[in-house]
Amino acid sequence: MPSPHRLLFISTPVGPLGSGLGGGVELTLLNVYQGLRARGHQVGVAAPEGSNLVGGSVVEVSGQLQPTAHTQGRKTPVILPGDSVLGNLWRYAHKHQGQFDLIVNLAYDWLPFYLTEFFDTPVAHFVTMGSLSEAMDEAIRQVAQQFPGRLGAYTRTQAETFGLGDAFEVLGSAIALEQYEFCATPGDALAWLGRISPEKGLEDALEATAIAQVPLKILGKLEDASYWQRLCDRFPHAADNYLGFLPTHELQQVLRQCRALLMTPRWVEAFGNVAIEALACGVPVIAYARGGPAEIVRPGVTGWLVKPDSVPGLVEAIGRIDQCDRHACRRQAETDYSLEALAIRFEQWFEAVIHNPARPEP
Ligand code: UDP
Repeated sequence: MPSPHRLLFISTPVGPLGSGLGGGVELTLLNVYQGLRARGHQVGVAAPEGSNLVGGSVVEVSGQLQPTAHTQGRKTPVILPGDSVLGNLWRYAHKHQGQFDLIVNLAYDWLPFYLTEFFDTPVAHFVTMGSLSEAMDEAIRQVAQQFPGRLGAYTRTQAETFGLGDAFEVLGSAIALEQYEFCATPGDALAWLGRISPEKGLEDALEATAIAQVPLKILGKLEDASYWQRLCDRFPHAADNYLGFLPTHELQQVLRQCRALLMTPRWVEAFGNVAIEALACGVPVIAYARGGPAEIVRPGVTGWLVKPDSVPGLVEAIGRIDQCDRHACRRQAETDYSLEALAIRFEQWFEAVIHNPARPEP
């Protein structure tokens, strides 16, 4: 094992940890944090005020939350509210940088990429979404050019959206398996999990389950209220099937009893933590063959991949779900997505950055 490092994680400024506003990055941060601490590293976390990190402590930083990148257009300029929590988080990082060997950025925001060259302590960036805006693409490209090796991503497909060749370390994601119980004998319902926001395509899951005449349990953060209202108008049963945003323990109690998880993203899903949470419970995944889920699902064994945006494709896959093997789902979670394996991948990436703190050409 390499010598222990002192690491500072700077969380997403779109919401406090535990709120669900940050989406999958909240769980990823928690998993990497726990995995690296278990390997002897010292990990500090700074995050917006109100944050809660299970089994750890957070430096809470106040200020106005950042709008989420996926609600902006490709050409939208950089937005920073007054008294920005993003600005305040990076002021904290700058002030305390001398206490750390490495600062790890988990924000999908322009400012930390721009600031990279002004830090004495190296800054590594774990990029949590695919290409969404020209301003971000440019900031990420600059870091790739000036500081090779400093970019990480969930999946190859996600990294490719930036068109930067091999600039990213592909690190995947993981699951704390002991928190998810296997269930061999599910009920009739399917599950849909995630932020309720247009890029997640919940309407397709509602339509497919209505056609297939199977119940759908919906869990997740209600991010876009007017979108949800439109869904409820179109699918009167939606509101009855919405169980809210549940903590992991309760989430897995519902999820494990479902016959399958539906993933219907309209965008290139960077990873899709919900996919591996389902697998860990023995639940097969029916997903559009787009982004991260296409790298996770093993068709016919741990789920089905469906032509993107095809509701008939979803219906057909729902009809074939019993061909998948729930034990194989759990096994895949155990072999491909263990916390220790993820921690080792991050550790190797951090080692390389710390020992090669390249400075840009003047
Ligand atoms: N989630 C949760 N409670 C819920 C529904 C979802 O905690 O009721 C979490 C889930 O565990 C996952 C995250 O929401 O970590 C969604 O992340 P994903 O990577 O699937 O998508 P993202 O939101 O990052 O686009």
